[in-house]
Amino acid sequence: MKRVLIRDDDVCYFTSPEILDRLYHRLLERSIPVNLSVIPKVSCTTPLPFGSDNPYFDGHLRYEPFIPPSFRGLLHSYEVGENGALVSYIGASPYLAPTQHGVTHDQADLSFLSGEAPLDFRQALLQGKAMLEMAFGESPTFFTPPWDRLSLPAMEVLQSEFQGVSAGFTRRRFLPVSDWGRYLLRRFQQRGLLRWKRCLLVTHPFDLSRFRFPNPRDLLPHIILALGQWDVLVLTNHYWEYLNDWSGWDQARLKPWDEVVSYLLAREDLKFETFTSLEMACRSADAQSKDSDRQDSLHQLRNHAKWRYGP
Ligand SMILES: [Zn+2]
Repeated sequence: MKRVLIRDDDVCYFTSPEILDRLYHRLLERSIPVNLSVIPKVSCTTPLPFGSDNPYFDGHLRYEPFIPPSFRGLLHSYEVGENGALVSYIGASPYLAPTQHGVTHDQADLSFLSGEAPLDFRQALLQGKAMLEMAFGESPTFFTPPWDRLSLPAMEVLQSEFQGVSAGFTRRRFLPVSDWGRYLLRRFQQRGLLRWKRCLLVTHPFDLSRFRFPNPRDLLPHIILALGQWDVLVLTNHYWEYLNDWSGWDQARLKPWDEVVSYLLAREDLKFETFTSLEMACRSADAQSKDSDRQDSLHQLRNHAKWRYGP
């Protein structure tokens, strides 16, 4: 059985329930969970990353395209809890599972994730966590770093505050040198999971963004291929990428996504998870394997005793 996690990023004050519902209602109606990476207090001044190399750069765009045009550049941040319709929509569905996506998704998040002054950021991180708990009634158990940026100093902080982190490919430098061997083995085996201290690292080979898939027709063949290779596959979407810069749907992108959904619904060998349910399943598998290791050692000890001392 393959485990699949659907994840959508940049959910925040600006997100309308109608957009999420259009993309995911067919999954939700079949009791399939969707993990939402929620920005607790979105900033309106985050510059466009990668400058003119960004596929959204049109010669003018200066800010992140997940900020709607009329808000771009405003010196104000908005808490997700201020969007009552979104909070009610997420709260009403047992299959929508929020995770924490940074704090403001701006330069302060980037500095923390890149490893600068990680301890100074802890307070902001906890404030963001409290905002999500206030909005959704539960504290997020997973962290999804904006821009997939991570560093060892940031991981040290995150592992003490969350049960897990979901990011793009784990790089060796995210981990202490003593864990590089385990990391390389997992990577070689194309396993997306690695436990470090208390924290489960869940990695994905690619996201479904315009960066990775300029031609949306390539989405489904790549997903089919990845499902053949990975035991646990995270499919990371950005809902705003299915819009024409926040005004109407981009049908050329929406249709291939609908085909992906149809394909996923037709496969009977997929188990869809939230990050929390995946972490619980891993913990229980770890406990079982430790238990069976203990039984094996006991068995070996008894055999050894029989051999030395007779029955
Ligand atoms: Zn993001």
